[in-house]
Amino acid sequence: MEISYSKGILLTHNGKKLLIDPEISKTGLAIPTIVTHAHSDHTAALSNNSNTYTTPQTIDLFNVSQPKKNARKIMTKNFYEPFEIEDFEIEFIKAGHLLGAAQIVVRCGNESIHFTGDFCPEPLITVEGADIPKDIDITILDSTYGDNKIHFDDRLNERQRLLVWILSTLKEEKNPIINLAHLGGAQELIRFLNLLAPKLNIYVHPKISIINDIYMKYDVNLKYHILDENSKIDTASVILIPRAKSNLEYVKDSIEFSRDKVKIGIVTGQSAKYGFNSFDFTSNLSTHASYEELLETALKIQPSQILTYYGYPEQMAYSINYTCDIPAMELKNCNSLQVNKIKSRETVKTDHREYFNNTKTDNIWKDWY
Ligand SMILES: [Zn+2]
Ligand SMILES: [Zn+2]
Repeated sequence: MEISYSKGILLTHNGKKLLIDPEISKTGLAIPTIVTHAHSDHTAALSNNSNTYTTPQTIDLFNVSQPKKNARKIMTKNFYEPFEIEDFEIEFIKAGHLLGAAQIVVRCGNESIHFTGDFCPEPLITVEGADIPKDIDITILDSTYGDNKIHFDDRLNERQRLLVWILSTLKEEKNPIINLAHLGGAQELIRFLNLLAPKLNIYVHPKISIINDIYMKYDVNLKYHILDENSKIDTASVILIPRAKSNLEYVKDSIEFSRDKVKIGIVTGQSAKYGFNSFDFTSNLSTHASYEELLETALKIQPSQILTYYGYPEQMAYSINYTCDIPAMELKNCNSLQVNKIKSRETVKTDHREYFNNTKTDNIWKDWY
């Protein structure tokens, strides 16, 4: 097999092609395509490509979250049920992160490639943790938060801190309004509050409730109300909205709203990077792997080579190379990498050092590391 980046991850074998998470739709009707999960930056192929494969949960989430786009001719495959497309034997394994999110393992002869997609090793409340595949030659590692300057707090502590903020805000006779990811993050918080503070009345924006319906279809029990003009906001009410300013307008249109009667918080991994100072409360609770979790994952899988993709690919490749002693480089810099050549570790390690020397990365990061 050969790996290259072509507006997505492109695997080639004897002229046959397989594309994973393409960034654009209509990538050529003949190329079979895989979509890892329902977040909109990964789903371009679901709207227009025929011959596309994903999990049933992903299709359900896509259809409610992007209703104007038409999912056509999509084949669904369950986790741990290997299937074949031309020369490729493919298996979806759990990625954590979001309901239905899959990591992809592709085998071809004695060669194996693994793509994490967006993933979270730690079990969350509504989804299990990401699995560690065995006997992998090359792992393509999503490095969304792969920078050692971005630090996530422990998820257990972060959830507790959020709960304490909600309860103390209510005690001040104010209602917490929380901005968070409507696809995944909201369901995590609702389930957490249902379990730890069952007397809270959780009101959600309609964009969140349509996602909740899909989680409940797959047996994640969520108790909440839909926010509208009839909502009776009381001293035990928390409001959840998707992260966009326009959604606060929806709250103002729905209920009697006064800025000194509410406190506004935001939950996003991005707050580990940016201040979000205009909010009364921020939490970096994330459904993505942290920097440390990315390194741990690399060490557990022990592939012959890691290719980093998205976010901080150069920094992550550098960290993996020097702290895990596994050759790593940015996917976008590898031009038709052949898996059989990778299987012998020494050759690639040399190539990789050359790559860093060529780009003078060592000098740039002398202080950084
Ligand atoms: Zn995602
Ligand atoms: Zn993503």
